[in-house]
Amino acid sequence: MPAFPTLLNPSILMAKLTLDDLDLRGKRVLIRVDFNVPLKENEDGSREVADDTRIRAALPTIRAVLERGGKAILMSHLGRPKGKPDPGLSLAPVAKHLERLLGRPVVFVPETVGERARAAVARLPEGGVLLLENTRFNPGEKANDPDFARALASLGDVYVNDAFGTAHRAHASTEGITHFVRQAAMGYLLQREVEYLGRVLENPDHPFTAVLGGAKVSDKIGVIENLLDRVEHLLVGGAMSYTFLKALGRGVGASRVEDDKLDVARALFEKAGGKIKLPFDHVAATAFDNDAPHHVVTGDIPDGEMGLDVGPATVATYRSILLKSRTIVWNGPMGVFEMPNYARGTFAVAEALAEATKQGALTIVGGGDSVAAINQSGYEKAVSHVSTGGGAMLEFLEGKTLPGIAALTDV
Ligand code: ADP
Ligand code: MG
Repeated sequence: MPAFPTLLNPSILMAKLTLDDLDLRGKRVLIRVDFNVPLKENEDGSREVADDTRIRAALPTIRAVLERGGKAILMSHLGRPKGKPDPGLSLAPVAKHLERLLGRPVVFVPETVGERARAAVARLPEGGVLLLENTRFNPGEKANDPDFARALASLGDVYVNDAFGTAHRAHASTEGITHFVRQAAMGYLLQREVEYLGRVLENPDHPFTAVLGGAKVSDKIGVIENLLDRVEHLLVGGAMSYTFLKALGRGVGASRVEDDKLDVARALFEKAGGKIKLPFDHVAATAFDNDAPHHVVTGDIPDGEMGLDVGPATVATYRSILLKSRTIVWNGPMGVFEMPNYARGTFAVAEALAEATKQGALTIVGGGDSVAAINQSGYEKAVSHVSTGGGAMLEFLEGKTLPGIAALTDV
C-alpha cells in the first residue's frame, strides 16, 4: 500500500472532536450548515426553497443540539453574493422552510455580526433556533478575515461544522472561526461523509472500482492519480473518455475533447497498466441535441459525429465489473444524461451500483451532476452513500487536506 499522504482518513474521526463529545447543556452552539439551496421566485416576487435536500441533511445535527439542551445558532452561505448584501440571496426563505421542517420557530437575523445579531442571540431561549443572514454578504467570509471570524465566534460557546460542501474552502465560517472558539467539532453529516469517503481511501474492501465520467479530464486528474494505486478498475465514461481515446490515437470525430490534456491522459493511461477501461462503443450523434440523428458506433467515431453516451456493449462490460466489486466510488455521468436519448449509460451505472449494494458492496456517489443523475434514476436510496459535496468530495478523494476539517479541535 502507498503511504497515505494526508490526515484525511477514518483515523481523523478518532483524532477530531465530534458532536457527541460536546457538553451542550445551556450552550450557544454555532453550527456551520450548508444551506446553499436553489431558490425559486414566486409571481409576487417572494422566494421559496426549490430543493430542500441540504436543509434536511442538517436536521439530525440541529435536532441533537436542541435535544441536548443547546441553543442552535446556524450560519451558511447561499450563492455568490460578492461580499455585499444581495436581497435575492437572503437566507430568509430558508429560515421559513426550516421552521416547517423542525416544527418550531426559527429566529431569522438579517445580518451576520453586529448589534442586532448579538441582541437576538442574547434573547434566544434554551432549545431556540436562530439563523444568521448569508455569511457571504460580508467580504470577510471568503477572505477568511480574522476580525469577521472572531465576531462570528463571539456569538457562541462551541462550534460545530456540518457543511461538508464547503469544507474544502478556508473561509471565516469554516476555518477562521475555529481559532476563536474553545471547541470545534464535526456535526453528524460531516462525520458521515468522512466515515464513508475516508473508508474508501484507507481500507476499502477489494475489488475496488472507481467510475469516473463527466465533462472534463482536467477536473478529475488529481482523483485519478490518487485512486490508481488503490483500485483494481477505473471505468471511464462521459466526455472525458474522448480525451483518453484521442490520446491513444482513436477516432473521436467531433466529440468533446480537451486537446491540452492529451499528454496527461496518455501518461495516466500508461501508468495505470490496464486498470483504466475506456468505452469501446458509443451512442454518437450528428449534433449536441436530443433529437439529432444518433446511432451506436463500435470503435472509432466517424468525422462529423460526436459521442454523447457510452454504448450498450460498454455498459454490459462495466456492469459485470461493478457487480463483482466490493467497493465502488462514482463521480461523473457516463453521457449527456440531461437528454433522454443519451441517458442510458448513466442510468445503467446507477442501477448496477444499486445491485452491487444489495450484494453487500459499499457504494458512494458524488458530484453535483452525478447526484442529480442518481436522483433522476430513482436509485438514490439504493446506494450506501450520496455525498453532499461536489468539489469537496473530489478534493477529499485527491487526498488533499480539507481546511474546514483539519481546523477542528484535536481530541
Ligand atoms: P459532476 O458534477 O457529477 O462532477 P461533471 O460536472 O464533471 O459531473 O460532468 C457532468 C456533465 O458532463 C453533464 O452536464 C453531462 O452532460 C456532461 N457530459 C457527459 N458526457 C458527455 C459527453 N459525451 N459529451 C459532452 N458532455 C458530456
Ligand atoms: Mg458538475
